[in-house]
Amino acid sequence: MLALSPNPSLTPAERFALDLLVDLSAVLPYPGSTDVVRVDVNEVAELRTLSQLRSRSWGITVGDGVVTIDRGLLAFTIDVAFAAVEQRSTAADRFNRVPSSETPLVNAQAEREPVISIAAKALASAVRAAAGARCFRSIDPWPKGRQWAVALSHDLDVVQWWPAFTSLRLLELAKRGELVRALRVIGAALATGGHDVVWRGIRSLLDAEAEHHVRSTWFVLCGSPTFATARAGDLTYSPESNLTRRILDAIGDGGHEIGLHGSFATSDDHALFPAQRDRLQSLSGPAYGVRQHYLRMRPDSTPRGMANAGFRYDSTYGYADRNGFRLGTADVIPLWDVDANAPTRIDEAPFTWMDRALSKYRGVEDPDAWIDDALTLADASRAVNGLWVGIWHPNLTPALGFPDAPNAYRRLVVSLSQREPWFAPLGEIVAWRKARRSAHAAGVRPDGSVMVTAEAPMVIRDAAGRAIDG
Ligand SMILES: [Zn+2]
Repeated sequence: MLALSPNPSLTPAERFALDLLVDLSAVLPYPGSTDVVRVDVNEVAELRTLSQLRSRSWGITVGDGVVTIDRGLLAFTIDVAFAAVEQRSTAADRFNRVPSSETPLVNAQAEREPVISIAAKALASAVRAAAGARCFRSIDPWPKGRQWAVALSHDLDVVQWWPAFTSLRLLELAKRGELVRALRVIGAALATGGHDVVWRGIRSLLDAEAEHHVRSTWFVLCGSPTFATARAGDLTYSPESNLTRRILDAIGDGGHEIGLHGSFATSDDHALFPAQRDRLQSLSGPAYGVRQHYLRMRPDSTPRGMANAGFRYDSTYGYADRNGFRLGTADVIPLWDVDANAPTRIDEAPFTWMDRALSKYRGVEDPDAWIDDALTLADASRAVNGLWVGIWHPNLTPALGFPDAPNAYRRLVVSLSQREPWFAPLGEIVAWRKARRSAHAAGVRPDGSVMVTAEAPMVIRDAAGRAIDG
């Protein structure tokens, strides 16, 4: 167990960052003071770069019954995990997103590693080493004895007007000289006879997941399309169309979760969030989560709009043009609002990998290479007992421009299954993490056993890894 020393000089953001590291470490906290490892923060307020932190064991020092954290680690956590650098940035690409080149981990060439999760793991090891004969307790990271978690998610971008999407994709392939692939797309599109092109892609995706008992998370656009929104690639289908309803029903019947895919305008006009959310809920039941279409959001304001609309979580933080850990965490984390100097009241489930990041921005057209990349990052998440969130677009079918993609997705699902994660929709994963975050020791009984309080039952282990107390 660990107890945080009260340090009145910590700012609210530093205090929140310290709580985050403790949460990610999965060591059981205890507000008492006997038989615990005390965690102190030193007074050095120097900024630390990633390489400095790495070379100093993340700024974590082990003593006898005490672990000291360098205050610079808290500042780094605020900048990276709470996206403070991005919240302060005014840089914008053509979709008004903060370009990946403006994010701290891309600048440090470290976006392929969940560095904040790794630092939290180091904190857990430090507490264990400092404990000696004192009581040490950790919390199992995920339910059902699973050591890591996976959320497969899908952004529903294509429902109506499918030939327009096939044409755009053929243009992209032609520009790259991918003529054989383009001919295969034309062949596949002709072979459908124009019937059920989108629906068949969705059905085969749902079947692949059902075969492996995977329940996924779907983000659905829910505004009224106009010629202008369709031309911009924003809103391209009506949520009330027969085909959209058929898709929503099939997703619901499979036990999957449905959230809102926020249209372009929601990024700045936050009043649209509750409007689109209500409209979606009238079609599909409760929508707890949101992810922005084209990842269009401003880190300093859009999450506040999402929280005010009643969403419990967002899953927009990830890169459009590469794969990796934008917030340095392979886990669900609470967001921090720099302007308000307070928590944002919404959890973030950052995604790590997206199918199109490599094909759209890196010119890699072999779907098997996308899957290899996904599995590399999944293994990095697994190594920190973390969460891996992937985005697969259901329109990646041969007739819509992507030969070999459905088989590649099957390979992804099979390969992830073999690594035995807890597969769950994001809403359930976020709820679980919220409950785990609430876990703490409420006291120690005269016989030395620990009383644990949490919003849901947790498995607690001692230093030897034995399940104990509860
Ligand atoms: Zn989208």
